[in-house]
Amino acid sequence: MSFFEIRNIGKHFGKNESFFWAVRNVSLSFPSKGFFALKGKSGSGKSTILNMMATLLVPDEGEIIFDGKPFSKLKEAELSNFRLKNSSLIFQHYNLIDGATSLDNVTLPLELLGVSKKEAEKKAKSLFKRFDIEYLLNKNIDLLSGGEKQRIAIMRALVKNPKVILADEPTGALDQTNASKVMELLKDISKERLVIIVSHDENIIERYCDEVIDLNTISRVKKKFPSLKTYRNPARISKNTISKPSWITFFTKRNIKRNKLINGISLCASIIGFLSLLISVGFYHGSSVSLENEQCRTLDFLNASISEKTYSKSDGSPLSLVKSTRPEAHKAKEIVSDIEGIHVVNDYSYFLSNFRSYYLDGDSHEAVSFYPSYAMSSSFASSLLSRGEVRDDFTYCLVNEEFAALHGYDVLGSEITFSQSYSILYNGIKDEGKLSFSFTIGGIISEFAFMNSPKVYYSYQGLHSYLEDIELKELTNSLGYSLSIPMLLDLLPNDNEITSLDYLVFSEDKEGTLSLFEKKKNASKEDIIKIDSNSYEIRDAYSSLTGAFTICLMAFVVISLISVSIILAMISYSNFIKRKKECAILLSIGANSGGVKRIFVFESIFFAFIASLISLLISPVAQLVINFIVECLFGLRSLINVPYFSLFNIPLLVPLSLFVLSFAIAYISSSIPLKVVRRMPLAEILHDE
Ligand code: ADP
Ligand code: MG
Repeated sequence: MSFFEIRNIGKHFGKNESFFWAVRNVSLSFPSKGFFALKGKSGSGKSTILNMMATLLVPDEGEIIFDGKPFSKLKEAELSNFRLKNSSLIFQHYNLIDGATSLDNVTLPLELLGVSKKEAEKKAKSLFKRFDIEYLLNKNIDLLSGGEKQRIAIMRALVKNPKVILADEPTGALDQTNASKVMELLKDISKERLVIIVSHDENIIERYCDEVIDLNTISRVKKKFPSLKTYRNPARISKNTISKPSWITFFTKRNIKRNKLINGISLCASIIGFLSLLISVGFYHGSSVSLENEQCRTLDFLNASISEKTYSKSDGSPLSLVKSTRPEAHKAKEIVSDIEGIHVVNDYSYFLSNFRSYYLDGDSHEAVSFYPSYAMSSSFASSLLSRGEVRDDFTYCLVNEEFAALHGYDVLGSEITFSQSYSILYNGIKDEGKLSFSFTIGGIISEFAFMNSPKVYYSYQGLHSYLEDIELKELTNSLGYSLSIPMLLDLLPNDNEITSLDYLVFSEDKEGTLSLFEKKKNASKEDIIKIDSNSYEIRDAYSSLTGAFTICLMAFVVISLISVSIILAMISYSNFIKRKKECAILLSIGANSGGVKRIFVFESIFFAFIASLISLLISPVAQLVINFIVECLFGLRSLINVPYFSLFNIPLLVPLSLFVLSFAIAYISSSIPLKVVRRMPLAEILHDE
């Protein structure tokens, strides 16, 4: 049985018109040692045969059998193992790794075998010494001459001492002296190993080789080379002892350092993509948080009202009129009785209307909103204060920033004055009068700006005592006892304009109002007692607006992520095309494809990690800047609020998912192109020079 045999192999190239057989009907048989030469005209298929024997090209016909096993039966991993442990191909065009030193090139096969760096260098150096080119050790491959490169390529093939050495024109670029040196070494090796060379240098092959096979004759005439006695070599290199693939680290490091521009561009693209993702999550979270917190930031957030709907049918019409009236006091109190800290009180807006014109330091102004506040000096009011102070005093009022802006901000200490007349008819008796109000602006509060307008807040309790002190003279005279406005309101019927047709409801804190909101939300249409609240309407409008905006933003994020992945995939594909040859070299000298894949995946995961880290570090700054701009333009505070530490009660969900997502994108974008290109025959990739 022969050691290495090719049986009836054929290989064709091209399609249709350009179709031709480069090699056909060739059968050769080799023993396990000896020095053989293939000769033939240029283009006779010598390199093609050698490539097929080196498993870089698959024959279209016939079979190649090594050590009893046909190549066609071997799996990819076994083929790669064959290249790594049993054979070495010396390429006609060297195929060395650029950007690495001569020494690195020579030690690479040993490193692939798992030999330690130190031992590999020792072995390589002895070869350098043998060729007398120790001065090339640390020289970069790119700087070597053709002859020098050829010797490095030969050394790379010999260093691991394989069972078979296949050499394609190994002396093509060498002078006479060096060519003889190489041939002598190969001759030496062939005493124990199988060496097959391709050469057109008749002189050299006649001098050194044991047998010469002329392809020009055997490719036409089926001729079997006489087989020599089989000799089995013991494998000299022990099994992998070191598991850490240092060559992967070497290539990853070199690639990261090398492609600075491309890497920089892809890094920027990823950072932009990840930032937009983080900011969108921040908006999504922030808009709901700001809905919870920000919308509470108006002083009238604590104000609501309760009225009753009554239906009145007019004669002969199928339609009924809906009318609001003030409910019975006990009914109004009952509906909020389960909420703590709620005050149901008379609405005095007939006497101090909610929207009215006024004088500011004597100058008249168009109407703005005037709202009562139940407890002006509450901690809630203080939390909104931006300038001045809060005080429970009827001579004192608070205005919001919108009001201040209307008057050019310089309103602290200014005086708001106006008067309002009333006319009451009770039991046929008319009582008329005029109330004068005067408030000093003692503080300015900063409120949630969405749909907000200029507002003035006065003390409700202050107004109440003020009205208690006003005696209705005509009615007092007629009734025989002193009657004040608050007392009168209790006597009046509920559908009277003076009662304002509702009761005012004040909460002492946010929680009270939120419970009120809950009640309002759950109310059915049939309920005749109705809770009204400005803040509730604003909250509704705001949440539907941000909801719509969030959907748009999510669409934007999806699109930007897709485009980032496409950019990354394109970059890693173009990287791969550039490095395709290098990969083919690695695979051809026995690197497993998993390892080569790891070089790419490591590299892109490294960049994905850096990109995620940088975007995580930049995003708080971006958030700060955007929030600052939004606050300046729209008065909305912390609209963007990236939940770095916890989301949906899961700690660190956002940063962790960012890393996972970026790693997934990196993995996919770096492994798909590899899969595509790996389908090509290695010999074809290595051929184009
Ligand atoms: P040799 O090494 O004997 O000079 P080759 O084996 O390199 O010849 O090539 C044999 C023939 O096959 C040549 O005509 C060459 O152009 C052709 N050939 C080799 N590889 C390819 C390829 N990948 N695609 C197309 N033609 C090829
Ligand atoms: Mg050739």
